[in-house]
Amino acid sequence: MIPSAFDYSTPASLDEVLQLLAEEGENSKVLAGGHSLIPAMRLRLAQPEKIIDIKALRPQLSYIKEEGDLIKIGAMTTYYQIETSDLLKEKAPILPEAASVIGDVQVRNWGTVGGSLVHADPSSDLPSVMLALDAEVVLKSTKGERVEPVSSFFAGILQTTIEPDELLVEIRFKAPGGKKSSYKKLPNKASHYSVVGAAAVVGVADGKITDAAVAFSGLAEIPMRFDALEQKLVGVATDEASIAEACKGCASGVDALEDLHGSQDYRRAMADVFAKRAILAALSK
Ligand SMILES: Cc1cc2nc3c(=O)[nH]c(=O)nc-3n(C[C@H](O)[C@H](O)[C@H](O)COP(=O)(O)OP(=O)(O)OC[C@H]3O[C@@H](n4cnc5c(N)ncnc54)[C@H](O)[C@@H]3O)c2cc1C
Repeated sequence: MIPSAFDYSTPASLDEVLQLLAEEGENSKVLAGGHSLIPAMRLRLAQPEKIIDIKALRPQLSYIKEEGDLIKIGAMTTYYQIETSDLLKEKAPILPEAASVIGDVQVRNWGTVGGSLVHADPSSDLPSVMLALDAEVVLKSTKGERVEPVSSFFAGILQTTIEPDELLVEIRFKAPGGKKSSYKKLPNKASHYSVVGAAAVVGVADGKITDAAVAFSGLAEIPMRFDALEQKLVGVATDEASIAEACKGCASGVDALEDLHGSQDYRRAMADVFAKRAILAALSK
């Protein structure tokens, strides 16, 4: 289908983008990699009156750097840049691992981490990884800057707490240090979106798990972590049977998604399987 008519602007600077968002944010959409927005517009699921193409900000907002104990990733950093980052391979290898299984080469070359988080598709991969890393998003507007934990950023399917006048400029998190991490997913065979995915960040000492963060994609309307699972994992031995036992029923009672790719029961069952696989893969590193 052809998108409905829209105005198009290519502001040259961050200040110009923020000014446009302040004036026309309610009826506008920011265009980053376009790999979610353009399909949504072609299906007329999104009909913005104005497109604010932020391609001029690509040099400014494409970066991966370490400052103090924080890893900072610019919102326009592409999946390919994440997948190939030596810094992330060393400090947060779960991110290159997860980025490498997103879509196809074309999607990874254009799709941005900022677009992925703001689009908030429940089947996207990086939102759950960022949740497991306890990341924060940095949002800018003409009124200033605010920082919000990813844990409260997602509000529903394709919904976040971003305001119409705000631009996501950075995602940052504390480097997980000596912890082990991995992302495993059951991919949709056509698009590679996750039917269910699990991001695990675990600490280990003396053959036992000392702490765990396990976040799920594809399972429910927003990426989720379960206190009960993470508490149960503490003190668990690192063998497969013990991990499987701890993960058993971890998503029971969750109001899971249901579509032609999987029923609620199937998704809840896959949460057990992929939590176990992600934790075991992390421990094997
Ligand atoms: C064939 C195909 C397969 C895919 N497979 C996967 C997959 O396996 N896993 C996966 O996770 N994803 C997958 N995707 C989605 C892909 O990851 C998208 O690129 C991503 O969801 C959106 O990023 P983008 O930069 O393209 O954003 P855009 O499409 O440009 O924008 C998406 C939304 O975010 C907003 N936005 C973008 N950047 C900002 C910003 N900095 N501040 C404020 N708002 C912003 C836009 O206004 C829009 O509402 C797939 C997409 C396609 C087309």
